[in-house]
Amino acid sequence: MDEIKKNLIGLSRAELIDEMARIGEKPFRAKQLWHWMYNRGETDFAVMSSISKVMQARLSETFEVRRPKVERELLSTDGTRKWLLKFDDGNEAETVFIPDMDEERGSVCISTQVGCTLTCKFCHTGTQLLVRNLTAAEIVGQFMAGRDAYGEWPTPDDTGRMLSNIVVMGMGEPLYNFDNVATALEILMDGEGIGISRRRITLSTSGVVPMMKVCGERLGVNLAISLHAVTDEIRDRIMPINKKYPLRELIQACHDYPGASNARRITFEYVMLKGVNDSAADARALLKLIKGLPAKFNLIPFNPWPGSEFECSDHKTVKAFSDILQDAGYAAPIRWPRGRDILAACGQLRSESQRQKKTQPES
Ligand code: SAH
Ligand code: SF4
Repeated sequence: MDEIKKNLIGLSRAELIDEMARIGEKPFRAKQLWHWMYNRGETDFAVMSSISKVMQARLSETFEVRRPKVERELLSTDGTRKWLLKFDDGNEAETVFIPDMDEERGSVCISTQVGCTLTCKFCHTGTQLLVRNLTAAEIVGQFMAGRDAYGEWPTPDDTGRMLSNIVVMGMGEPLYNFDNVATALEILMDGEGIGISRRRITLSTSGVVPMMKVCGERLGVNLAISLHAVTDEIRDRIMPINKKYPLRELIQACHDYPGASNARRITFEYVMLKGVNDSAADARALLKLIKGLPAKFNLIPFNPWPGSEFECSDHKTVKAFSDILQDAGYAAPIRWPRGRDILAACGQLRSESQRQKKTQPES
């Protein structure tokens, strides 16, 4: 294997300054590099014209500005785009871009782990055997690869950019990889670089209670909770993490989440599973459960995958469930799947690449 040079992407500002100090450079060098890497999107030291030729050569001896490799790009008929990214060790993850309905902006859905340890029964990602945390470089790299694809460098003013929002809703449990996720999001939020506001970032957790406050205090991003059930009995069954952090503790942690307000509501994601959690009584119990919280809902029709034990609730049932929440004054949009034709919908990530691997062994 070729020797891999140290990637400067994914280092926090402090780490980048340290790296420069190790080669005898002042913090100013880190500031220059930050601008080139994250504002201009540049990967080639030779193009970084504010840095002397001698210094460019020195940097390129030791370092690299590297992106994950785009193995495949798929475009859905509905405008959703999916990138299969390959990391240095050969592991893969998927990043999805979901345009808004007006197609002028959209969200990049990023993954935080290869696979997931949490084995929620309705989620295909949870069935994968191989799990590892993604590094900060790999998390930032997903967003940057998306920007490359849309040619959105240098970072423009806040107007007219497609990749305007980030949802941390891909593969993996972000609060089980919090250090790397936090470093990555701090890089993505940095005003001298990519500069995505924390108000345009939503992090989704299955409910890692002790990390929720830490997340709110350090990052201040919007919070989404994968709730999916209104009783411990059902939630224990479909989301094993509930046995560790039951509903009462989870809801208390939502009350304690720093920065939640009527202007910045907590999103409760709720996957609609036929006959499991989708009755009118469930909807009313849901209202009771989140009473007093600044809340909104995201109803996700279940996306089936081969071998899954659930069915999606009927259209009528989903609509009735949404109506009950809406009549009580809450936003409760139904998130009809996007990118289904390219398996980019919730809970389907990585399945295609895994299946291909099984049928096409590497030569
Ligand atoms: N691990 C984090 C981030 C993933 S977010 C979490 O669970 O919150 C992706 C959302 O899609 C979560 O709410 C997840 O519960 C949901 N989901 C998983 N599998 C799904 C499926 N097959 N159909 C619909 N939604 C699914
Ligand atoms: Fe992991 Fe989230 Fe899937 Fe559960 S729903 S297995 S936490 S990725």
